[in-house]
Amino acid sequence: MIYRTALSRVARTTNVHRGHLSRLLSTRASTVLNALDLTPSSNGTISGVYDGQWGGSGDVLESICPATGEVLAQVQGASPQELQIALEKSQEAFEFFRAVPAPKRGDILRQIREALAAKRDELGAIVSLEMGKIRTEGVGEVQEFIDIADYGVGLSRMMNGRVVSSERPGHSILEVPSPLGVVGVLSAFNFPVAVYGWNLALSLAAGNATLWKPSPTTPLTSIATTKIIASVLEKNSIPGAVAGLVIGDQDVGEAVVQSELVDMVSFTGSERVGRQIGKTVQSRFGKVLLELGGNNAVIVLPDADLSLAVPSTFFGAVGTAGQRCTSTRRIYLHRSIAHEFLHRLTALYKTLTPGDPLEPRTLLGPLHTKNSMDIFSYALDSLNSVGSEILVGGSPYLGSHLPTHLREGNFVRPTLAVPPAEVPLSHGIWQTETFAPVTTVKIFDELDEAIEWNNGVKQGLSSSLWTRDVRSVGKWLGLGGAKGSDCGIVNVNVGTSGAEIGAAFGGNKNTGWGRESGGDAWKQYVRWSAATINFSDEAPLAQGVSFDTSSATS
Ligand code: NAD
Repeated sequence: MIYRTALSRVARTTNVHRGHLSRLLSTRASTVLNALDLTPSSNGTISGVYDGQWGGSGDVLESICPATGEVLAQVQGASPQELQIALEKSQEAFEFFRAVPAPKRGDILRQIREALAAKRDELGAIVSLEMGKIRTEGVGEVQEFIDIADYGVGLSRMMNGRVVSSERPGHSILEVPSPLGVVGVLSAFNFPVAVYGWNLALSLAAGNATLWKPSPTTPLTSIATTKIIASVLEKNSIPGAVAGLVIGDQDVGEAVVQSELVDMVSFTGSERVGRQIGKTVQSRFGKVLLELGGNNAVIVLPDADLSLAVPSTFFGAVGTAGQRCTSTRRIYLHRSIAHEFLHRLTALYKTLTPGDPLEPRTLLGPLHTKNSMDIFSYALDSLNSVGSEILVGGSPYLGSHLPTHLREGNFVRPTLAVPPAEVPLSHGIWQTETFAPVTTVKIFDELDEAIEWNNGVKQGLSSSLWTRDVRSVGKWLGLGGAKGSDCGIVNVNVGTSGAEIGAAFGGNKNTGWGRESGGDAWKQYVRWSAATINFSDEAPLAQGVSFDTSSATS
């Protein structure tokens, strides 16, 4: 939800109003902001554009704390002209950076890693304050950036091509990776640091310039992150536009996506927007990497260790208040353990109390925006309309149920629901990713049936099987051609939510087929060429094709 509108005009004229706002900032918020030097300039706003220099004269966005409703700051985003300049500077920065030797680029990344580590807790706190996830998860996100930076440092010495055997004597073929160009990174609100980190680390190691268009509802986190990175670039006399930033709403995102100056668009966000972006980038034959919504299922077999499966599923369903792309949305329970599993799981749900995400003991933070509250309510209406049994939750928290300072926060009761068995898999209840803590339950008798349900949705991000039977594991993983989970993440005795950076991360089907982070994901951030070299005294054609020119020349 964006609060720009008339503010854009007001911002330029009423500095008193801005000063007034900053004086009213709670100690809770100002402590976090001050630690990252996020203070407004004389016009009362914070600059939201970085292309080697800080600027911003476009629309003003408000950053709103999801836990308290407090306006944290006003950020001035990119005007169309500033965006164009930032794009051109990104291209120039790329021309510079592509010639920097890869291990030297790795060294820059190492310094970025060190700078991030030095501000890990502060950056984690702003994620928590602005996005609303609990503090340990905010810090965890920064740790993820640190981890992928480590990975990128190593990668900078290992982004190797190949030598391929030629069928022709005296020939050899090289597969050569080269820097790609400008990578536009458009990111979602729920991972305001890590997703950028996954992209930046690989893109930078590959020799590209990156231009980041973050979520308009987490501008402060992106500014704080960019400041840390910019300090390293500037210290090393690297053009700042190697890691540029353009804050703005949909219009800024659209302009980045449409620009011919952007060689690859890496988009993380909803299926709806990803579908449009995929088409736009494809229509100009740019490269596109899509990381879209999930609709993730857990399957629990009779031999599962419930002492592990229950708490893990609990975290998957309610962690980050259900706002991870990998959050558990569906639970499929074998009939023989369903009662016991639900008894234990609902008991855990009942221990949850909403709290300030900055407080160390809080497990349940707020939803990110008021719009997310509407999404939650809509899902409940849907469940109720088909006569679902609500096992726990089922409503938002009223202000009177919340501590005084959280009364304007977006808090909801995580909900576990059992729709009637006759509601078909094609129903929106099963097919829709509800980006809120609403999880549905269904009972099965055979693993094959549960796998079919797991695969029977359009999305294909994360999935999890709980069992100690190796035969079920083999089937689930699709080994030997078995019809297992069709997701990009196929876990065993590990929940759906959360992943390490070492493996390539991403989903299949409507989740977009993109892969980021570890594994072979780096190969998307380079331009590949196949180079056939002839070092012989003959010039034979491939496949033995004869094109005899002797009669023509005689
Ligand atoms: P969103 O699609 O609303 O917005 C994502 C980004 O796109 C934002 O920066 C937004 O400003 C921009 N944008 C919106 N419309 C645009 C347009 N027409 N052209 C260009 N840019 C546009 O997503 P959100 O609500 O911020 O994030 C939640 C979604 O992201 C969920 O569906 C979640 O599953 C998904 N997500 C996926 C992954 C993954 O790795 N698969 C990770 C995190 C989040």
